[in-house]
Amino acid sequence: MECEICNGKGWFKQANYHHEVMEWVECLDCLAEQKQTKDMVAEAAKIISQTSHERLSKLLATFCTERMEPTRLALMLDNKDYVSLMSFIEVNLK
Ligand SMILES: [Zn+2]
Repeated sequence: MECEICNGKGWFKQANYHHEVMEWVECLDCLAEQKQTKDMVAEAAKIISQTSHERLSKLLATFCTERMEPTRLALMLDNKDYVSLMSFIEVNLK
């Protein structure tokens, strides 16, 4: 859901009556939400890091297999293309 104060832009215009100008103000609601998200990511990462390397790899490999077109994945596997595989995961997990 988009922020009603800044429409998701992070900044909004506000009248500064003291200087009689409109000025850009950073949206504190969005800033607080970003901080909360960042904290939650850090906390979740701490918990997830308890799992094994193998289990995490298998989860991500399953994700790739289910989401990627098979010939594309096969090509990446043939080439042991680590960079493309990781890029796919990063882009598609968002
Ligand atoms: Zn906002």
